[in-house]
Amino acid sequence: MSSQHRSVTIIGTGPAGLTAALYTGRANLSPLVVEGIEKGGQLMLTTTVENYPGFRDGIMGPDLMEDMRNQAERFGATFVQGDVSSLDLTQRPFRITVGKTPYTSDTLILATGASAKWLDLGVDKQLSGRGVSTCATCDGFFFKGLDVAIIGGGDTAMEEAIYLSKLCSTVTVIHRRDTLRASKVMQDKAKSTPNIKWIWNTAVVDIKDVTKGEVTGLVLKNLESGEIGELPIAGVFIAIGHIPNTTLLTGQLTLDENGYIVTYGGTRTNVPGVFAAGDVQDHVYRQAVTAAGTGCMAAIDAERFLSGVPHETPTVAATAQV
Ligand code: NDP
Repeated sequence: MSSQHRSVTIIGTGPAGLTAALYTGRANLSPLVVEGIEKGGQLMLTTTVENYPGFRDGIMGPDLMEDMRNQAERFGATFVQGDVSSLDLTQRPFRITVGKTPYTSDTLILATGASAKWLDLGVDKQLSGRGVSTCATCDGFFFKGLDVAIIGGGDTAMEEAIYLSKLCSTVTVIHRRDTLRASKVMQDKAKSTPNIKWIWNTAVVDIKDVTKGEVTGLVLKNLESGEIGELPIAGVFIAIGHIPNTTLLTGQLTLDENGYIVTYGGTRTNVPGVFAAGDVQDHVYRQAVTAAGTGCMAAIDAERFLSGVPHETPTVAATAQV
């Protein structure tokens, strides 16, 4: 088995990981980039991206990711395909195993992202980018003046409903219970918005119309009466939460109560030499451009660390979540 050493290893190839690869590549650090199963991140599931600066007419999500990858490769980033099977942050250099191949690295940039939860209907993923979305800020504009629905009862659902209410004709929030999980302030704001409507105690059991390749309506089931009904709509936003991809980090690094990596003053984690960028450490903004921004920050932070700038650890004792 071969062992390879790098000064920088980046895990994840969404906008955060690829921007970190570009910057560390241009800094002559020859980064190793681990490209996992969900290569390219969430933008691979999107069609047109209209809010990434620099593309007046928009760009397809997968094309943007391919361009970012090629740009990083041009500056010396090398890519290895496979999932990280183990990670040891207890000693430096850090140990990373990709599949069965071991690597060591002086610094690590974690950019593994977060995955949006889906409804497990199958059809929701099939119609992703064709009327089904997990990001109102990204895709709301495509539904200007139309009727849309949001699934979920948390803060994200409220925030997205309020955002969409300014663009769409009506927004129907469909929630599986009769009480919202969202904070009171967000609930109040959503409930006082005239074009936000509510359907309670209801689950989505089907999304029409996969044969047409677009969303035309939802099949709904009232969870109390069992009654089935249809709601014609042009788009549906699934806002039932995200799962940060941090399984391998549990117990090795400080995570918050939802499993996101905690960063301090930029992209530093509580482990010196380990930096985090993008959605794996951000459950608030979650945009391609903010992920790219933190990827750039992580690259600069790693470069500084390698040149001897101390990695200040948090003053409050960090307790890793187990
Ligand atoms: P949450 O986990 O808070 O809420 C998820 C919602 O989706 C819940 O209402 C849940 O229902 C529902 N849900 C979950 N699974 C399913 C399913 N399979 N079918 C139907 N409905 C389902 O996630 P959020 O993304 O809303 O928020 C995550 C965190 O981020 C929270 O801590 C939140 O406060 C925070 N946040 C804060 C914001 C702000 O302050 N501006 C904005 C956005 C998020 P049920 O309630 O029945 O469990």
